[in-house]
Amino acid sequence: MHDDHLKLRTRVTCSVTFEAAHHLPWHAGRCHRLHGHSYRMEVTVEGHLDANGVVIDFDEMSARLVEVVTERYDHRLLNDIIDNPTAERIAHEAWGAVAAAGLPVVALRLWETPDAFVEILGD
Ligand SMILES: [Zn+2]
Repeated sequence: MHDDHLKLRTRVTCSVTFEAAHHLPWHAGRCHRLHGHSYRMEVTVEGHLDANGVVIDFDEMSARLVEVVTERYDHRLLNDIIDNPTAERIAHEAWGAVAAAGLPVVALRLWETPDAFVEILGD
C-alpha cells in the first residue's frame, strides 16, 4: 500500500448504551411525565492511522466511552445532571464530556428510541 493512505482522514465509531430517566416540564404531551429511555450513543472520532494502522483501538475507545458516557448517565435522573434534558441537550453535554476526555470527536448521535436520534456534527 502506498503511504498516501496515511494522510486520509479516517473515522471510527463506537457506541454505548445506557438506561436513564428524564422529564420535560415544558412538554405539552407525555414527555412532561417522568419516564425512561434506553439510550444508544454513537461517537465518531477522526484521525490518521498510527504505526499500528489504527486511528484508535476499538477496545480502548469503547472503554473510554463507558467511563465518560455510561458511568455519567446510566441509571440516573438526567434532570439532576442537565437542565431540561432533551435528546439534543444530552447530546451536547455528552459531546463536551467526550471532548474533555481527549477523544477527537467529530460526530455524535444519540438514539432516544429505536426510531429517533439527534446528531451533532463538528467542523
Ligand atoms: Zn423522553
